[in-house]
Amino acid sequence: MKIIRTVKEMQDWSDGIRSTRRIGFVPTMGYLHEGHLSLVRKAREMGDVTVVSIFVNPMQFGPEEDLVTYPRDFNSDSEMLEKEKTDIIFYPEAQDMYPQRYTTIIQVRGLEDHLCGRTRTGHFIGVATVVAKLFNIVKPHFAVFGQKDYQQLKIIERMTKDLNMDVEIVPCPTVREQDGLAMSSRNTYLSQEERKKALLIYKSIGTVETLFRQGEHHAPTLIEKAKEILGSEAGMDIEYVSICDKDTLEDIDEIKESAILAIACRVGRTRLIDNTILMED
Ligand code: AMP
Repeated sequence: MKIIRTVKEMQDWSDGIRSTRRIGFVPTMGYLHEGHLSLVRKAREMGDVTVVSIFVNPMQFGPEEDLVTYPRDFNSDSEMLEKEKTDIIFYPEAQDMYPQRYTTIIQVRGLEDHLCGRTRTGHFIGVATVVAKLFNIVKPHFAVFGQKDYQQLKIIERMTKDLNMDVEIVPCPTVREQDGLAMSSRNTYLSQEERKKALLIYKSIGTVETLFRQGEHHAPTLIEKAKEILGSEAGMDIEYVSICDKDTLEDIDEIKESAILAIACRVGRTRLIDNTILMED
């Protein structure tokens, strides 16, 4: 496994290999867990060489957010990636990614107006911009993203299509802890008590799925039920519970076609998100 620290070296490596080998790419912010590793395994399965980037992207954090405290552990990450037989870790410095006088941004309009985009102003501009840059640097044939960050996945799919980027986007299902909590690097912020409360998210998803299967297709009724469960403990702040179209992310009233349930909550100071697909196309 090779660790590449500069944009130039990464581009040179990819140029040398791209015409003969299929490059699979997994962008991450590090502090890796089984969720990330499931994407790496998918990339290994589909491609010839696997590149994983570790970059805590300043552009996608708001001024009040956790850029400085975001968990980092490069040694543990690289050990895990070595075990997964990753070929390259791309681990750039922020100054190399965003040198002085950097100004260009990518905005995927419309999709960013829903769910997390409503409160995290500019977040998806930061995400789209860094992913576009990483695609130009790593030059992958395909890139693997988790459905855990559903809106991010949809925005990246839209961006690649709209900008004719020659990269296939491969979605992967959410990996959960044994008790159902969606794995996230931010789970490390949770105290024991908060960790228990966080389970209400999974519980509310399960209840909505059951009610939906039993024939309840009225979104506001399902949302109310989820909110009741989430609100049953103090210290759980609901940011949103949304039932929306799987592709446009626009709110739905009566579920007739493709739909997802998406939730964002703050447990103490930790912001957690989760989602499930209620109805495929
Ligand atoms: P992050 O390091 O949080 O930026 O995530 C990097 C990639 O891992 C993104 O494509 C995420 O959607 C994906 N990911 C994060 N958590 C999970 C999970 N629990 N299951 C599957 N994929 C995940």
